[in-house]
Amino acid sequence: MKIDNNCRILLEKLELAGYQAFYVGGCVRDTVMRREINDVDIATDAPPEQIMSVFCGYKVIPTGLKHGTITIINCGIPFEITTFRIDGSYTDLRHPDSVTFSRSIYDDLSRRDFTVNAMAMDKDGNIIDPFGGIDDIKNMIIRCVGDPTSRFSEDALRIMRAVRFASQLGFEIESETAASVDLMKERLSNISRERIRIELDKLICGKNAASVMLKYRELIGVVIPEIRPCFDFEQHSQYHRYNVYEHIVRSIEKAPRDSLTLRRALLLHDIGKPCTFKIGEDRHGHFKGHAQTSEIMARKILKDLRYDNKTIDLTCTLIALHSNKIESERQIKQMISQLGIDVFILLMEMKKADNSAKMEFVFKENDLLDEHIRTAKRLENEGCCMSLSRLAVNGRDLTALGFQGPEVGAALNELLELVIDGKLPNEKTLLIKYIYSKLLPM
Ligand code: ATP
Ligand code: MG
Repeated sequence: MKIDNNCRILLEKLELAGYQAFYVGGCVRDTVMRREINDVDIATDAPPEQIMSVFCGYKVIPTGLKHGTITIINCGIPFEITTFRIDGSYTDLRHPDSVTFSRSIYDDLSRRDFTVNAMAMDKDGNIIDPFGGIDDIKNMIIRCVGDPTSRFSEDALRIMRAVRFASQLGFEIESETAASVDLMKERLSNISRERIRIELDKLICGKNAASVMLKYRELIGVVIPEIRPCFDFEQHSQYHRYNVYEHIVRSIEKAPRDSLTLRRALLLHDIGKPCTFKIGEDRHGHFKGHAQTSEIMARKILKDLRYDNKTIDLTCTLIALHSNKIESERQIKQMISQLGIDVFILLMEMKKADNSAKMEFVFKENDLLDEHIRTAKRLENEGCCMSLSRLAVNGRDLTALGFQGPEVGAALNELLELVIDGKLPNEKTLLIKYIYSKLLPM
């Protein structure tokens, strides 16, 4: 998204009605940094009712009327317009308990979390920067607006946001702000899990996710206490060069930044290692069953972070299968029949990221994983039968032959397995012949 005429028109309309209006927050920061903009937020001294009347004729959503936020849809794009305000304390999900509207952009910028997020820009591109945000961008620094301890006391989520922005922007957290992060991190346990989850997702997808997660690992330990035993846990394994926590973090770094699914699965993929660790007779470390233990732990953690069931199931499937070996085309077909091709490919990508954070000789397996991806795509393109939808007989055929209820599904699955194994061709007459000879219920 860009700041363009569609945005400028909104500022002009407010100004024409006699109000001040500015771009604020992330869009100003990202414009200065020449980064892609997520969403455009606007601040004005117009009270909410006046915003609504300035934009009569537009689709208007009173998003947070009490807090002065109105969403205007312009050319299909939503814009949040918020009255300048001074915040009271925060105890709920996303909003302060009480707000006081103000006529001053300075007040509005003062309530914002970090200097780089506390700048405003007018319609002509002039920037208002009372807290040194531009300098902090130049020096790549995240710094609280005002005293970090009191800002973090007002809203502890800002502790997490400091680390999230450090990860996303590749900035260092300024020393006083960093000291308060460290001092006050436990307060995050009072913050709603939904708010934490939103920041966690952004943190793990940041370009500096690995170094930030290493430096602020104690904060990660507050958010996910189950990960603490992984800190400094030596693996005693010829395959590994890092301890469990560092391996986790390095594997996240190796996954594409735009794949939240992979990064989330990698965050938890080895969390069950410390409790499954044993030194074998070969004197090496072994973690038998760790993928299943990790899956069980991950399900609980993800539930607690209020992820939806679909996300939890997909993440847990990837975690449960991440250390399985794939040895044949038949196995690839079987896996695709269970997972679908997209999840199969995701799993291969996850294994690649996992390998890339081990000893160098393990990377070589990644060529094989790429080969598996090519094989999967070829099988798919060839129309190879790997799911019931491609089987040459269906439920109706079996019902016509006298199968009933659960027998139908069981017979179809048996046939699919035989076809995948190459023991039967996927041809209707031959499949029916087989049914007559072997499967037909008495
Ligand atoms: P992104 O590009 O990830 O959306 P953003 O800076 O726009 O980054 P948002 O969470 O969308 O972040 O918040 C918009 C703006 O609102 C921030 O830039 C900041 O000025 C302000 N803000 C958001 N959350 C807080 C908070 N907890 N405390 C103070 N100010 C906040
Ligand atoms: Mg935003």
